Amino acid sequence: MKKYKVPLHKKIKYTLHKYTPRRLLLRLKQWNASRWQYRLFKKYPTLFKQTSLGKHESCMYWGIETGAGWSKLIDDMSNELSHKFPHAEYAQIKEKFGILRVYIDNVSADQRDKLNSIIERYEVLSSETCEVCGLKATRTQNDIGWISVTCNKCK
Ligand SMILES: [Zn+2]
Repeated sequence: MKKYKVPLHKKIKYTLHKYTPRRLLLRLKQWNASRWQYRLFKKYPTLFKQTSLGKHESCMYWGIETGAGWSKLIDDMSNELSHKFPHAEYAQIKEKFGILRVYIDNVSADQRDKLNSIIERYEVLSSETCEVCGLKATRTQNDIGWISVTCNKCK
């Protein structure tokens, strides 16, 4: 599944007069696609603090690099993490080989094991959740070797 990178939050500026109708439509589509992310950024301001950094400072500049189907999973994970690690910040959230990958900053070395066991649990859940719609699915590999988790409807 090909994903376009939305430079999100800081990039969406409504200088409408600059847009041709086609470009405006594309912009609105991107905006719509990233709305679930903004909701999470607002709900967990500390965890998503790095979304306000520049592209050379944090990968979170690009927002959450997964499909919207995993939004509930990421919401649940953020809820759990924000309670157990109040200072933690996401450094990157992406999909790799059909699995959710999460990197976190600002957690002390002695808390890493506890943190990793929580993240692992959500990584396992992601491997059986359709990245597009959030329904139950299995990891599959397409003809060109791309591994993804999508249900039959979203393939
Ligand atoms: Zn699906």
